[in-house]
Amino acid sequence: MELTTTELSEIKQLISFPKGFTIITHRNPDGDAIGSSLALKLFLEKFGHTVKVILPSDYPGTFHFLDSIDLCIVYDTEKAQAKQAIDQAEVIVCLDFNSLDRIDKIGPLVQDSRAKKLLIDHHLDPEPFADYVFSDIHASSTCELVHRFILDLGEGDKLDPKIGEALFTGLITDTGSFKYATRPETYETAASLKRIGVDDYTLQDKIFNTVSEKQMRLLGHCLYNRMEVIPEYGAGIIALTKEDYVEYDIQRGDTEGIVNYLLMLKGISVAAFIREQPTIVKLSLRSKGDISVQEICRNHFNGGGHKNASGGAAYAKLEDIVNRFKKVLPKYVKKRP
Ligand code: 5GP
Ligand code: MN
Repeated sequence: MELTTTELSEIKQLISFPKGFTIITHRNPDGDAIGSSLALKLFLEKFGHTVKVILPSDYPGTFHFLDSIDLCIVYDTEKAQAKQAIDQAEVIVCLDFNSLDRIDKIGPLVQDSRAKKLLIDHHLDPEPFADYVFSDIHASSTCELVHRFILDLGEGDKLDPKIGEALFTGLITDTGSFKYATRPETYETAASLKRIGVDDYTLQDKIFNTVSEKQMRLLGHCLYNRMEVIPEYGAGIIALTKEDYVEYDIQRGDTEGIVNYLLMLKGISVAAFIREQPTIVKLSLRSKGDISVQEICRNHFNGGGHKNASGGAAYAKLEDIVNRFKKVLPKYVKKRP
């Protein structure tokens, strides 16, 4: 869903006088959610706006180095400030999510707010809750779309290395360093950001080569002790128990990327990473080609996302969720001889 010329000029009008903007992104924010939010904040501040960023839950420590990340309001621990940021917003920008249930308890606050709402996103099935919607499911990342948005506003000269670094973060985290979900525009965005001074080598180093010893051992544990392969359906599963969370002192972000290891196995086209958290069981599904994990998540695990990368959650026992995944697999994947 593109913004029309009329909508773009209305948005230009909105940003031409200093206002209160509040940016919100999804729970368990990843590199794309955080990168797009910070980039847009830094961009809007150049017009004299007051810009607050709300994260429903805390961010992984990996992204500490991004400019202004310490200024984000984390709803889980700063409810009053988050509520105030929504109350005072004249414009609310929703980034990298497609439905209000992805921002938990902030959802109803956004729904009831009289602020103008803009949504920029690349997930399947966006819900119609915003006044302006820029949604493109073929985009690699929300960061790619925020970059497009800035250019479409005719404000490309406002891009700088700090904004570029935040945008590049989403490009590389949502594409696994340009391995999937790319299109020509993805590389054009990368080229344009590199041209304005983004040091992509250092950025990749900061994001991917800062794993702690504990995380590395957790990965070893997942692959050695918790991995199950189902060759007849080309599927791999890693399931982590509550006890694993205690033993490996697993914190937010520690399990990022583990699901992708399953797809390195020859013949594996669908991967499930299932973990038992204190109140819910959370799932991350990944696939190759035509297998839609978005449908699996939407139909069976209260979730969604993209065709080849989706997530969901359920109130159930770990074992039940693993079994549910195995049971529904045949509906989505052909059995192999
Ligand atoms: P991850 O597995 O890395 O948490 O998420 C993969 C993709 O699925 C992301 O685009 C994310 O936004 C989406 N996703 C993850 N969990 C959920 C969920 O519970 N509900 C929905 N609708 N999308 C999710
Ligand atoms: Mn994204």
